[in-house]
Amino acid sequence: MLPSGLTLRHVLVVGVDGVRFDLLGPEVTPVIWGFGRDGFLGPVPVDEGTPTWSGPCWATIATGHGVDRHGITGNDLTGHRLADHPDFVTLATRAGLPTLLAVSGWPPLALAEDGGPLFAEAARREFVAVAEKSLAGWDAADEALTGLAASILAEDGPRMSFVYLGAVDAVGHVLGAGAAYREAARAADHRVGRLAAAIRSRRSFADEDWTIVVVTDHGHLDRGGHGGREPEVATAWAAAAGPGIRPADRTLITGQTQIAPLALAALGPITGS
Ligand SMILES: [Zn+2]
Repeated sequence: MLPSGLTLRHVLVVGVDGVRFDLLGPEVTPVIWGFGRDGFLGPVPVDEGTPTWSGPCWATIATGHGVDRHGITGNDLTGHRLADHPDFVTLATRAGLPTLLAVSGWPPLALAEDGGPLFAEAARREFVAVAEKSLAGWDAADEALTGLAASILAEDGPRMSFVYLGAVDAVGHVLGAGAAYREAARAADHRVGRLAAAIRSRRSFADEDWTIVVVTDHGHLDRGGHGGREPEVATAWAAAAGPGIRPADRTLITGQTQIAPLALAALGPITGS
């Protein structure tokens, strides 16, 4: 039993790959849209020096540093300098906190493939592979990963978690940013809602402070694909809600380097906790 007034702080960061900012809205992504009402939701430009590929964008989000520091310029992470600039899950893990890394579909975020893992250390590490190399396979992997992560969040309540969903980006690459892409975003938004509901279902929820951050790495061209500086590609976004997030603050997150510091700050002082 905690002394009254003392609550344990928890942070969940959900990464949804390749979701265009102009797709967000109350119809397609009601859960993410709700962050704009209760907390923060806004566009986040991909820094000029960061190629709009998943590798460099996620590295910047995870470490709080740009390409000049982490050294990742593409989807092969080989030669990175992540040891000098660790990700936010690793930093929380090294502080002795229970942490979760849960990744669907794209190996180098979690595994020693293509120069990975981008997230070096986690108390619990889950990876769900795309069993069948198809869009249905990507959807199934996101679905399985969501169920797994939801049960871990509900039962174990890690202090710092990163959960990654990859299916929206896969649809964008194959079919472009049309109706199927919107449906994939709708499914991802529903999965974000399931993760949030799992947190609210915790028996100890009333004694805990949870900050939830949802973020994408880059957008997509109408015809699908990314890597350039077109506005629909180079405009990412972030959403956040929690005890320290003031709804009126429209400038909370204006760059991808700000997400890791925000997630770590939301934990409060972590050394010795
Ligand atoms: Zn991506």
